[in-house]
Formats: sequence, C-alpha cells, structure tokens
Amino acid sequence: MRAMNRFEAYTTKFVQSIGKKEGAVSPVIANSASFAYGDPETAEAIFDGSVKKPLYSRMGNPTTAQLEQILADMDGGIGAVATSSGMAATALATLSLLGSGDEVISIGGLFGGTYSFFSETLMRFGVQTSFYGVDKLELVENAITAKTKILFLESVGNPNMELPDIAAVAAIAERHGIVLIVDNTITPLSISPLALGADIVVYSTTKIISGNASVLGGAVVFRAIADGDDKFKSSRYAEVHKFIKGMGKPALIANAKKRAMRDFGMSANAFGSYLTMIGLETLPLRMDRIVTSTERIVAALDAAGLKVNHPSLPGHRHHGRYNTQFANGCGTLFTIDFGTKESAFAFLRGTRLATLTANIGDSRTLALHMASTIYRDFDAEASAFLGITDGLVRISVGLENPDDIIRDFLEAAAG
Ligand SMILES: *Cc1c(COP(=O)(O)O)cnc(C)c1O
Repeated sequence: MRAMNRFEAYTTKFVQSIGKKEGAVSPVIANSASFAYGDPETAEAIFDGSVKKPLYSRMGNPTTAQLEQILADMDGGIGAVATSSGMAATALATLSLLGSGDEVISIGGLFGGTYSFFSETLMRFGVQTSFYGVDKLELVENAITAKTKILFLESVGNPNMELPDIAAVAAIAERHGIVLIVDNTITPLSISPLALGADIVVYSTTKIISGNASVLGGAVVFRAIADGDDKFKSSRYAEVHKFIKGMGKPALIANAKKRAMRDFGMSANAFGSYLTMIGLETLPLRMDRIVTSTERIVAALDAAGLKVNHPSLPGHRHHGRYNTQFANGCGTLFTIDFGTKESAFAFLRGTRLATLTANIGDSRTLALHMASTIYRDFDAEASAFLGITDGLVRISVGLENPDDIIRDFLEAAAG
C-alpha cells in the first residue's frame, strides 16, 4: 500500500467542517454589511456580548466565522480572526499589542511587505524594530529590553530558505515573558507554531491555503490565556488585562477586535471567506503533493548543476533542522541563483511552464526574479540581509507533474 498522506490528520476535519449535512452543502455566503437585531433588548445584548449574534460585518460575519473556527482548530488555538489580506493579519496581530515607544525583535528572513511594515511604517509611529539573523539567538536574547513586546519570525525565510529553530525562539520568549508571533503562511499543517510554544500565528491565506489566486485574505490564530500564570498577565501587557478580566481564556480575540479590527477595519469579506474555505478543503492533499514534488525537483536540478537553495539538500546549513523540526517539509518554495540578472531573465523567458507572478503557493508553478521586482526598493544592506542576489529566481512549485517541471526548467536553464 502507498504511504498515507502526511497531512492525513486534517483531511476528514476540513471537508466535514466546511460542508453542511443539512440544506446548502457549500458554505452559505452572508452577503450583508449589517445585521438586524429585531428588538432593542437584543441589540443591547449583542453589543454587551451576552448574546452571540452578528453585530456588523466589520466586527465579524457568519461566513467568516466558519472559516475562523476551522483555522483555530487547525492550529489548536482558542479562536482566530480572519482579515482582508496577509499584511492585514500581521497589522492586526502587532497593532493590537503595540504602542508608541514599544520595541519589536524580528528574527530571520522576512517577507518584503512585513519588512517595510516594521522598518518604515511602525517606525513612523514610534515603534522600533531590530532585525537579527535566524541563528543569532544570543544577540536576540541580549537585545530584549523592558519595552520589547513582540518577537516575530517567519516559519521559513522567504526567499532565503533559512529555517528557524522555532522551539528555541519560543523558549527565549517564555524565559523573558515576551509574546512570540509566527508567520506560518508558507507552512500551514506542516508546522504548528502554537504547539511549539508560539502565542499568535499569522497567515496570508492568499497563498497555499486558498491555493488558486482567487482571493486575497489573511488570518490570525490566538492561543487561550492560561488559568494560572500567563505572560499576558504581566505588567508588560497591561492593556490586555481588562480583556482577561472580562473574557478569560479568549481575551486575545476581544483585544484584537477592539484594539485593531474595530478601528483599523482590516476585516475579511464573506465572499473572500467562502473562496478561502473552498481552497482550504483540499489543502492537505495539495500540500502533501507539493512537498513531495519540491524535494524531487530540487534534487534533480541540484544534480544537474544548478545553484539551488532548499533545506532538503544535504549541503544546506539547515538540513538537520529540515529533518527534525520540518519533517513535514517547508512548503512550496525554493530558489535558483543564476549568477546574473541576464541569465535569470533568460531562464524566465525560456520556461514554458512557470507563471511569472509575485504570488506563491498556487496550484500552478510560479517564478519571479527577486531583485528587479519585490525587492527593487531595498538598499544593498537590506538586500544582503534578506539574501537577495542579482541572479536570484524564486520558484513556487505547483501541482503539475514534477517531471514536466524538471524537464522544462532544465531546458530553460540550458537556453
Ligand atoms: C504574501 C505574504 C504575506 C502578505 O500577504 P498578503 O495576503 O499578500 O497581504 C505575509 N507573509 C508572507 C510569508 C507572505 O508570503
């Protein structure tokens, strides 16, 4: 018998919780901005939280609530808040905890938008972020001050393909009582950040969760507040205390909705949440195939002499970590360094399979030259830190036959 899908634990749960057993099988789209309360007593009760019914779609929508419940269960969180995009998810998770004068420590490679959010935008509002290489954990620990509110990391450095030691970072966060936020966009199902000790998980659901370029979206998954000791009960997170007092375990959901969603309005819409669920149904099947294909493709291209960067290759400096903490793979990405921009462009003109776009995690294989596109506005120092070189092409492996991809790439690379 063939080996089971490595994400078998999710296959039953996803399809069963997305489809209904009575009435419309496919999720119903609650396409309304507002919801009628019926009588004033109910209106009052909805607003004070004692009656759980929809209030207004900026604060929550029934279709979106179904998606949020599934994503919370997926990661073992107490709840989730879906957002209009992945950047909105990062904004919600961070802005709900930060104030002027606070500090953020970012560890490892970073998505371009997240890097500029921290280095430019939060900076304008008086929040300082310092950036450290993925294995500089001693420096990270020394950089923590009384003002540090968030440790932030991505489960896989995109596009530098470095793998963080998430458990070790979580141990630092625990030791110092600081919140750890993990952007798990690239490795849903493969990595469970909350189980590894993170407090909050952010996703761009635009990527492999939806999987087909049909919808922009994001989500933030929160852990429950513990009954006894909890880092959120320390004076560092004093703003959260009133929500812990009023709500208990799901306090971080209320904090996120009232301190970020209500006032910034980065809300998901019902149709987007519907499309995201349709994608999510098949995530375990797609993820399993893509992880297998990616390992096969990078091995073949590496053997053919291309300069491939992926931690499944024995020469990669995080190969050991790939086999332990990342035993379920590290998602859809790898990079090829063609040395020069000209050679990279020649490859991109030559490939007949890859779609040239900034997206990742699609059903189709995607490719993009990094330095001339997403990272064009970054100075030399930032580019070097993020691992961007002149000839770097990022690949996101899709659902095609991996042997077709190998053949196409070798032909395109040969010119
Ligand atoms: C794409 C991406 C984001 C931003 O998501 P959008 O949905 O495009 O706003 C954040 N983090 C990572 C790792 C991403 O790949």
